[in-house]
Amino acid sequence: MSNELFAQRLKSAMEQQHMKQVDLVRAAEERGLKLGKSHVSQYVSGKTVPREEILRFLAETLQVDAGWLTGDDETKPADGEPYVREFRKSTKLDHVLYDVRGPVVEEADRMENEGVRILKLNIGNPAPFDFHAPDEVVFDLRRQLTKCEGYSPANGLFSARKAIMQYAQLKKIPNVSVDDIYTGNGVSELINLCMSALLDNGDEILIPSPDYPLWTACATLAGGKVVHYICDEQSDWYPDLADIRRKITSRTKAIVIINPNNPTGALYPREVLQQIVDIAREHQLMIFSDEIYDRLVMDGEEHVSIASLAPDLFCVTYSGLSKSHMVAGFRIGWMILSGNKRIARDYIEGIKMLSNMRLCSNVPAQSIVQTALGGFQSVNSYIEPGGRIYEQRDYIYHALTEIPGITAVKPKAAFYIFPKLDIKKFHIVDDEKFVLDLLKEKKILLIHGGGFNWHQPDHFRVVYLPRLEVLKEAAGKIADFLSTYHQ
Ligand code: PLP
Repeated sequence: MSNELFAQRLKSAMEQQHMKQVDLVRAAEERGLKLGKSHVSQYVSGKTVPREEILRFLAETLQVDAGWLTGDDETKPADGEPYVREFRKSTKLDHVLYDVRGPVVEEADRMENEGVRILKLNIGNPAPFDFHAPDEVVFDLRRQLTKCEGYSPANGLFSARKAIMQYAQLKKIPNVSVDDIYTGNGVSELINLCMSALLDNGDEILIPSPDYPLWTACATLAGGKVVHYICDEQSDWYPDLADIRRKITSRTKAIVIINPNNPTGALYPREVLQQIVDIAREHQLMIFSDEIYDRLVMDGEEHVSIASLAPDLFCVTYSGLSKSHMVAGFRIGWMILSGNKRIARDYIEGIKMLSNMRLCSNVPAQSIVQTALGGFQSVNSYIEPGGRIYEQRDYIYHALTEIPGITAVKPKAAFYIFPKLDIKKFHIVDDEKFVLDLLKEKKILLIHGGGFNWHQPDHFRVVYLPRLEVLKEAAGKIADFLSTYHQ
């Protein structure tokens, strides 16, 4: 291995993990390894490279591949042959986790290519499960298509933003004009945009664990330091307020909440939201609230937008049509800036700059926002008793919790459940291996808890969008699998 390349990669990995030389020395000490400060500084300056055991420790601690650190993964020319340059992904991606489409999914794809039928309960995509866009939405999209050939204003068509503004009024989100609304190619694009515009290297942002992993991925990619706060299963998966308080430092800029929640299906009550606002107010944090499931709330509960409780703070609220109107493929979402925009003037400049740079979001999809948000809401028929999402939720909750070794909190919203495995009973130490074993044996694809930045190997997520017959088959197979499974 080349000393120089090693030093360069070590420094980059340390920077990504926000670790200094002393942190490595301390971590080694905790592991009972002998690693002096002088050793680390020699590695960093390219004077020497570590022995095997220390190399493995460094790779593990910095969450990188040992082969990558040493450069041994580079293509080496055979004797006499010219050097072949290999193109590698940016090291910025080394710490980005996005397992919702990760290695287990790749294995499922491989199996499918070999002709195996896989039951996919891994992704919140309504259309493949016979959920379709309301007729009126498709009709209006067709009618307007020829008028949507050009770019729209960067933040979106006026008609779309006006309809979203009126929606914000219904949700009692304060201080919102049409200019405070930005449409995006799904909420996904806007999450990425907001993280890029906000975070300097090392800035901290509080994100829930478990989370929708795009938040952690985008914040990390932007150079931020993600600090996960726990959502507490014992308290219906509500954010643990004491944990949030404990994790705030002078570098914390913002807190993210996902309400209703993916992957837990939790819906946060007003009192919990109020307490999060109180903490944000005390520590002058910005609030990002991902509310893409706000129209998929069951049991007669009401969704409260946290921004409606925080007129004096700066809030960004996200929603879209992917889930409520079953048009995830159209790629249309939005964000609403609200509350105290004065304190965020410079940040908003950054948002505008990035929004302008992407020219605009998908215009045909913007053209149906007004139709979608107004009048009859067909989604309501799915979430009341007798409706597909409601009945599928009840079924999967009962079927899974009847399996010995599984417990779960009943979801109140969205279409996910995040059950807990008794890891002692099954000797589970690796949740990714659990879902891979299930995939190989029963041809069912789930995502392990680790894919949602949950740090114990004891959870998995089920998407309960498929029809009852399919869910019955899946629950039966999971029960059968677990009746003998041990790691
Ligand atoms: N936020 C959450 C919590 C989600 O679950 C998803 C998609 O599953 C998204 C955002 C992304 O949605 P969009 O289709 O609008 O990009």
